[in-house]
Amino acid sequence: MEIEAWETLINGTNCPMCANKSPMNLLLPLPSGRAILLDDRDFKGYLILEYRRHVTEITDLSPQERSQLAEDVNACASALQSALHPNKINYVILGNEVPHLHVHIIPRYFDDGWWGKPTWLRPADRKLTLSAEDYDKLRETLLIAFRVAGRI
Ligand SMILES: [Zn+2]
Repeated sequence: MEIEAWETLINGTNCPMCANKSPMNLLLPLPSGRAILLDDRDFKGYLILEYRRHVTEITDLSPQERSQLAEDVNACASALQSALHPNKINYVILGNEVPHLHVHIIPRYFDDGWWGKPTWLRPADRKLTLSAEDYDKLRETLLIAFRVAGRI
C-alpha cells in the first residue's frame, strides 16, 4: 500500500468504515459503536465492534470511552457465550488494513477447523458462509441474548 493511500485511511478521508453508514450486516448499535455480525460458518457468531467515530488507536480514547468500549466488548462476549457456547473467544485489534479502531470478537470452537491457530491463518478461499436462513437464525439468536442480558 502506498503511503498516500495509507494516510487517507489514517485521517479518515477514505475510511471504508466511516463511508459505510448503514452496513447490511449490522447486528445492533452499542454505546461505543456498532456490532457487525460476519457471515462465517467456521467462526459462527464472529462479531466486529466498530468504534462510533474515526479514531485509530485505543490511546485516542478518553478513559471513560475506553471503559465503555471494554463494557461493550464484554456485552458481545456475554451474548456469544450464552447463545452459542463457544470453547473460547478471541479478542483482536489489528487495523493494518482498515485502521479505524475496531475489535474482532471471534467465538472459537474445537471443531472450527482452525483450533489452536489464529483465525487469520485460514486462507481467504477457505472461508465458508452460512445459508441465508441460518444467518438470519443466528442473528435472531444473538439479538435475543443481548435482550435477555438487558443490553437492548
Ligand atoms: Zn473511519
